[in-house]
Amino acid sequence: MNYADIKRYDVANGTGIRVTLFVSGCTHHCKGCFNKETWDFDYGKPFTETNIDDIMTYLEPDYCSGLTILGGEPFEHVNQQGILPLLRRFRERYPRDKYSEHHRNVWAFSGYTFETDILDRMCKEWPETPEILSYIDILVDGEFHEEEKNLKLHFKGSENQRTILVTESLAEGETLLWTPPGDSASGNVRG
Ligand code: SF4
Repeated sequence: MNYADIKRYDVANGTGIRVTLFVSGCTHHCKGCFNKETWDFDYGKPFTETNIDDIMTYLEPDYCSGLTILGGEPFEHVNQQGILPLLRRFRERYPRDKYSEHHRNVWAFSGYTFETDILDRMCKEWPETPEILSYIDILVDGEFHEEEKNLKLHFKGSENQRTILVTESLAEGETLLWTPPGDSASGNVRG
């Protein structure tokens, strides 16, 4: 897997101050894509153990809320294989305990649809997908639709995209959506 960029201080792709990995390679080719150079799987540099070490170091400060993975398309198969070692290291260091002082969460962004592409197809075909989902807290799903573009959305580009509570959705067997604190529709809703 190649990656395009690693941001040490990112406030645009999830809540709080986050460390963000932009992977290379995306087959969706959405009209109006904000990140066209990352469509190419060879764009950027090879993602190595050293990058994982660096990311783990960047995640350490108390102000850090967690890790975001976007692209490109993190759920292309080669990219799932590339991000899995990072996510394993992340969850070894930051197990799911929201009361721990070391609590960090994982956001991921995908152009694929949660139920049909990821759960129904990828989880059945690829062993990496269920494990990856077990490490992710929030998934923003769906291709970018230029005709539904809305700059006011939190951490999303177009109205069709959803911000999914992954753990809760898997536990409940139905898609549950995250809404930002303070929204009039605040609270978890069903998608
Ligand atoms: S899924 Fe994201 S990176 Fe890929 S083409 Fe669409 S907007 Fe661009």
